[in-house]
Amino acid sequence: MQDRTPDAVRDLLAVVLDALTLPYDTPDYSRRILDRAAEARTVAVAALAENPADIGWNVDYLRSKLAAEQADAERRDNGRCRRCLRPFDADDTRFDGHARHADTPWCRSCVDNCHDGGAEHVCMICNPARYGGGAQ
Ligand SMILES: [Zn+2]
Ligand SMILES: [Zn+2]
Repeated sequence: MQDRTPDAVRDLLAVVLDALTLPYDTPDYSRRILDRAAEARTVAVAALAENPADIGWNVDYLRSKLAAEQADAERRDNGRCRRCLRPFDADDTRFDGHARHADTPWCRSCVDNCHDGGAEHVCMICNPARYGGGAQ
């Protein structure tokens, strides 16, 4: 008699949950969550179709896919302005240059552009919720 969810199933649910969880302010949130959902779906389908004893394999497989996806995303985001996607240039410290603006994910040029914006201005720096980073 099994009166509790088997560990293998709990592991599977946990990794699927991981796949479907990203902080809302993650750059590329919408696209990444779709990619990750597709991976999770593939693995869930396989886990249902296969011998329950093989669930552990599916869990490991999905974990490795998620780690690879995360590493790719970090490589992509690293050293780039999140708004204009240009690589930061640490030497370009003009007020509108392409050095990183303090600890922000933005370059100085984009921040300058945002601060100079008129009353109508809105961008992902001053209003991230409008740009796909917000709650669904
Ligand atoms: Zn920029
Ligand atoms: Zn702005």
